[in-house]
Amino acid sequence: MKRKDAAMVCFSGGQDSTTCLFWAKKHFERVEAVCFTYGQKHALEVQVAERIARGADVPFHLLDVSLISQLDPNNSLVNDSIAMDETKPSDSYPNTFVPGRNMVFLTFAAILARSLGIKHLVTGVSEADYSGYPDCRDTFIRSLNVTLNLAMDDQFVLHTPLMDRDKSEVWALADELGVFDLVRTQTLTCYNGIIADGCGHCPACLLRKRGLEKYLSTKKA
Ligand code: ZN
Repeated sequence: MKRKDAAMVCFSGGQDSTTCLFWAKKHFERVEAVCFTYGQKHALEVQVAERIARGADVPFHLLDVSLISQLDPNNSLVNDSIAMDETKPSDSYPNTFVPGRNMVFLTFAAILARSLGIKHLVTGVSEADYSGYPDCRDTFIRSLNVTLNLAMDDQFVLHTPLMDRDKSEVWALADELGVFDLVRTQTLTCYNGIIADGCGHCPACLLRKRGLEKYLSTKKA
């Protein structure tokens, strides 16, 4: 990738995608962000994402893909009657798994990017952390990259700057990029919809908090 290229970042306003947004701003001349609504309970997510994108002077696109929650409402992010798994079941994915979500997001992001003359797509997926969602794995991303290129006869490049980083390493990257405080105080990672440090007990908050503590302790050392 050259500095004059353009990138589209899949952006939710959380810790990971916000770090990716600023990673993209460092590596690309032009950066745009795309955020998705899919029937998630917390509409605040979109406001947070839009605010961060505007603050970073990044054009913000919002796409409604709520069809996916109509196809399969059996996850706790869109369905109020399902209590969220606070730990990962031993034999399956936690019920925060939305089947097909990243495939849908990246496919729509690619179509939008193509229309804007953008080849580079950036996503904050990682296989280093606990949930093990299948569509966060490197194999899937590589496979989808090939599929998108074949589907649109194009040369997209999917970037996953967080793929091998655990949460403490994501904090370290934010710090390196000069946005540690912004990520810490403005992003929304919490499954219960609370900005910054969040509710403190949902799986996303616990992961974020443990990563932060680990990063701060290594920084001091
Ligand atoms: Zn939380």
